[in-house]
Amino acid sequence: MSSAAAHDLIIVGGGAAGAEAAARVAEAGRRVLLVTTSLDTIFAARCERPPADAPEGTLQRRLRDRLPVAPDGTVGSWELHGAAKGHLERIPTLSVLQSSVDALITEGGAAIGVATWEGVPRHGVRIALCVGSFLRARLRRGASEERAGRPGEMAYDELADDLERRGVPLVPASWEGPEGVRPDDPERYRSDFLVVDRAGTEGHAVRAVRNLYLAGVCRLGPVDYASAARDGAALARTMLDGTER
Ligand SMILES: Cc1cc2nc3c(=O)[nH]c(=O)nc-3n(C[C@H](O)[C@H](O)[C@H](O)COP(=O)(O)OP(=O)(O)OC[C@H]3O[C@@H](n4cnc5c(N)ncnc54)[C@H](O)[C@@H]3O)c2cc1C
Repeated sequence: MSSAAAHDLIIVGGGAAGAEAAARVAEAGRRVLLVTTSLDTIFAARCERPPADAPEGTLQRRLRDRLPVAPDGTVGSWELHGAAKGHLERIPTLSVLQSSVDALITEGGAAIGVATWEGVPRHGVRIALCVGSFLRARLRRGASEERAGRPGEMAYDELADDLERRGVPLVPASWEGPEGVRPDDPERYRSDFLVVDRAGTEGHAVRAVRNLYLAGVCRLGPVDYASAARDGAALARTMLDGTER
């Protein structure tokens, strides 16, 4: 990776996929910037007590040993978030920034940075989007509709608009929840969002924009936490081995 840009890798989105990839690449000594909309939703789990178990070697699995695990094999979602955030913040080559990315910055067809909602550009050698279920997301509960990627989490449309302008194909996906809640329950919601079409990717790489990569829900469509973490780990290997373009 070149040293001209401030960061070897900019990861957008601090969910299961982005946090996993950020930790792995930064722990290998690369300069990583993790930009995520809210520091309070780093590694956010939607259920109150997600399963403590996680794929071997993943960040969640590593954190589990520091957390009280209940007899039913679950951990508190807030404790998990706090442990993950603390872990990321202690990695010397990882910077964590609370901000929303609303566009890519490109040069000659290659991604060289991101534009943030606050207006401060950030430059990196490679850019990875791990933006989950937030691309042009709408959350519907009963008759109400809000711009949200998950309940209570604002989604902005600008990044999806920018990707489409650059020829990145987006297709619809959805998630209904919470688990175990009947369809007629007032708590029941449906989230509709966009993900990058498989035809627009080659592994983790985006065909339309060089040096742009994806992991997690925005690449695979709706998945569970374990699959998102595995994909974040796979993205990290790609970034470190340079096996994809
Ligand atoms: C409503 C809903 C409920 C779900 N409930 C469950 C569940 O109970 N159990 C389960 O296993 N899975 C659940 N899922 C699936 C869940 O999305 C995955 O399990 C997992 O969270 C995906 O990880 P990810 O890293 O791909 O995305 P996410 O966890 O969604 O992380 C994406 C991150 O990117 C950030 N972000 C988005 N856009 C930007 C931007 N432009 N700039 C900066 N940051 C940005 C977001 O704030 C978020 O922190 C649910 C999904 C949805 C939509």
